Amino acid sequence: MELQGHLLYIDITQICGVGCTFCMYADKHKTGVSMKLSTLARDNLAALINAPDVKRISISGEGEPLNNAKVFHEILGLSNGGKSFEFITSGFFPHDKMAEFYETTNQIVLDNNDICNIRLSADSHHIEQVKWRAHGFSLNYLKEFRPAGLSFSFRSIDTDREFTRNYLVSELARWGILAVIEPRSTLEDILIIGEESYGVDYKNLVHPAPSTPRGYLNLYDYIKATEYKVNKRFTFGSLNQAPLANGMDLTVKPNGDVYLYGIENQRLGNIHFDSVRWEHLASHVRETPLVRALYTQPLTELLDRLDNVELVQSIVAKANNPYWLVKELSIHDGLLEQLVPA
Ligand code: SF4
Repeated sequence: MELQGHLLYIDITQICGVGCTFCMYADKHKTGVSMKLSTLARDNLAALINAPDVKRISISGEGEPLNNAKVFHEILGLSNGGKSFEFITSGFFPHDKMAEFYETTNQIVLDNNDICNIRLSADSHHIEQVKWRAHGFSLNYLKEFRPAGLSFSFRSIDTDREFTRNYLVSELARWGILAVIEPRSTLEDILIIGEESYGVDYKNLVHPAPSTPRGYLNLYDYIKATEYKVNKRFTFGSLNQAPLANGMDLTVKPNGDVYLYGIENQRLGNIHFDSVRWEHLASHVRETPLVRALYTQPLTELLDRLDNVELVQSIVAKANNPYWLVKELSIHDGLLEQLVPA
């Protein structure tokens, strides 16, 4: 099995005071932990970040990563150069603090010859909660200061695409920026400002409440839309556009625990106590029947193998996202094992 173009997620905090209604991690926000870097954690992260097969390092959290910006900047400092980072945030800081954050981030990535994309949440859930909205401010900052190491994009989990589209266009207009939206596919728009364009990604809403307006994708439609985007069947792992092979998707949690993204019933180590390297993880993917099946076989085909159709359908209807689905299947004895071909 070929594995190339890995994605490394580092969740640097569980702390968040934003309070989005849909948040899957709300129970952790008050008492949760933030990542600190031990000596071994630095060695592990440096090895993971600097491996040539890593396509992106995505910093996020089970909370708001701006609450641990110091560690984000330390992580950027571990790069030997030529890397692509991403920081996923609500952008809730007051604008002067946000500008300082951008300045420091830009300086570190430029010194290391890296780049960093700032992906700002732009959906109704976040917009309602955040006083200092970062969307217009950030593109205005980009226009004024031209930070060469930074780029910006947007993400939304709105079932109603028009909310995000109208919000972005009108918010940018308040900053004197004329923008238009060009729809690309079910999961992607492009925001165009003059000669420049910015991606808008749509994600599926996990656990939609019964009162959620119609229009969100169910799990199967979401998988179909993702397959259209990458031009291949949906499997676990980091999906790369066909004809490229897929890579591994690795998540490091704020306490240092390591998992393959979405397969959280198998903890693979901890960056503070174990040696964590892509080579060992690749062996795990190739040699562990469940992971191998999830990484190599289309998920919808694997789901067809499950016996307890009613139970599975009820889990599919609520989880509504392939990664949460596996998490929830693992709660039920023996269900996940049925995914593995004999
Ligand atoms: S900002 Fe992110 S972590 Fe915080 S409540 Fe909203 S979705 Fe959850």
